[in-house]
Amino acid sequence: MTYQQHLTDFNRLADLDGLRAKIRGAVYGPGETGYDTVGFNVTAVNEPTAVIDVADARDVAAVIAFAGEHGMTVGVRATGHAAIDTDRRSLLVRTGALDTCEVDPADRTARVGAGVRWQQVIDAAAPHGLAPVCGSAPGVGVVGLLSGGGVGPLVRTFGLSADYVRSFEVVTGDGVIRRAAPDENAELFWGLRGGKATLGLITEVVIELPELSEMYAGAIYFDGADAAVVLDAWRVWAPTLSRSASTSVALMRLPELPGVPPMLAGRFTVAVRYASVAPASAAAAELASIRSVAAPILDAVGPMPYAAIGAIHADPVDPMPVHEAGMLLGELTDEAVQTLVGQAGPDAATTLLMVELRQLGGALADEPAVHSAYCHRDAAYNLHTVGVLVRPIEQAVVADADRLVDAMRPWATGGRMPNFVSSADPAVIRTCYDDDTVAWLAALARQHDPRGVLAVGQVVR
Ligand SMILES: Cc1cc2nc3c(=O)[nH]c(=O)nc-3n(C[C@H](O)[C@H](O)[C@H](O)COP(=O)(O)OP(=O)(O)OC[C@H]3O[C@@H](n4cnc5c(N)ncnc54)[C@H](O)[C@@H]3O)c2cc1C
Repeated sequence: MTYQQHLTDFNRLADLDGLRAKIRGAVYGPGETGYDTVGFNVTAVNEPTAVIDVADARDVAAVIAFAGEHGMTVGVRATGHAAIDTDRRSLLVRTGALDTCEVDPADRTARVGAGVRWQQVIDAAAPHGLAPVCGSAPGVGVVGLLSGGGVGPLVRTFGLSADYVRSFEVVTGDGVIRRAAPDENAELFWGLRGGKATLGLITEVVIELPELSEMYAGAIYFDGADAAVVLDAWRVWAPTLSRSASTSVALMRLPELPGVPPMLAGRFTVAVRYASVAPASAAAAELASIRSVAAPILDAVGPMPYAAIGAIHADPVDPMPVHEAGMLLGELTDEAVQTLVGQAGPDAATTLLMVELRQLGGALADEPAVHSAYCHRDAAYNLHTVGVLVRPIEQAVVADADRLVDAMRPWATGGRMPNFVSSADPAVIRTCYDDDTVAWLAALARQHDPRGVLAVGQVVR
């Protein structure tokens, strides 16, 4: 579509000056400075009628009401780590200005706005010896991760990040600002933890902060030529770990880019990640057998402050066109490891940048104190692939990911985690939930969003 066509549609669909008059935040139409919005995953196609930097929950309510009156939908973005498209029937709410981050050390909680990234909460909590239960990348948005559950480097010790939510402030699709907690709008509280943006746009969350300052953690990098040996040893070793520890393993082909350590750049490596809250001596003893399985290129596991948790996975931070695929696995057999090595090991001509296995179980598999819409707690591993869609390899990246996922299907549970999906395809979203959860989420969405204003992106309908 040309810019002129876009502008005509934009004028036809909505009088944005009317919206501007109703909110404190800023409204940007196509072509206006502030409209273009680049998130982490630049594959997202963003052509909304307007982008709105909301200033508070009342702004969100006004945007949703406006969209309902004009037959439009509303999408949401904090950091753009997930690639969700918006078209000209949509308004895109950006939450960056919702930047409240207040730690209450006595209550061991943090009140966090929808625009805040995990590192900000980590840094605010650290002086009090407290730690939010975050994911591997502290640059990810707090609310975005919690809305999909949240599985981090200490998942087997602390469980699902969303289990630490005390309450939400949320604007539902009928434009009403509500509080959701176990004792208030309990059905919303259930569905907001796992249902992504299905039931509303979250404006603020209160989370519990466990006590933790230090851990024994990091990654050991081996030469890719040792992939079969390392993966096989990891397969046997990981199930022996105590609940104090969590681990993942990644086959990585990192390019020579700023931020990638020279000894890892431009070569094939295998990273064993480990994080434990046990005393350093006990953790080191638990790690010893995998540590010595091959000659490491770099051994960066040791005592570290929780605030440095991002160093364990060392996920990329710069925007890039990411293609992700994966699945939950019920088991990891010898044959599964051989298959994975065949697909992504030293002899595989793969274009995938990373193929990762995260061990699940431990506290994640426990019955939660308050149930949520997060399903598949019983899966044993999460398999995740990352490729970069750049010419001339973009088609090969997709084909390589598809081939790997197909090859690993014999060990799949059939389920996926909402946070590792980034898709608006109903069939893909369906894999994130069991039948009852889908039915409940869809029914609650009809109740709270009768006009289907939030029916865009990764939502259940
Ligand atoms: C490098 C990297 C590492 C990751 N590591 C982990 C990990 O360890 N564990 C894990 O669980 N996930 C992980 N993820 C996945 C991540 O949690 C999801 O992509 C998450 O949706 C990102 O949220 P965001 O706000 O940063 O991104 P955005 O693209 O801004 O938002 C993504 C989605 O989150 C939802 N959302 C965001 N804001 C709101 C809101 N205010 N109200 C309602 N819904 C909202 C919407 O569905 C939105 O489409 C990782 C992703 C990347 C790219």
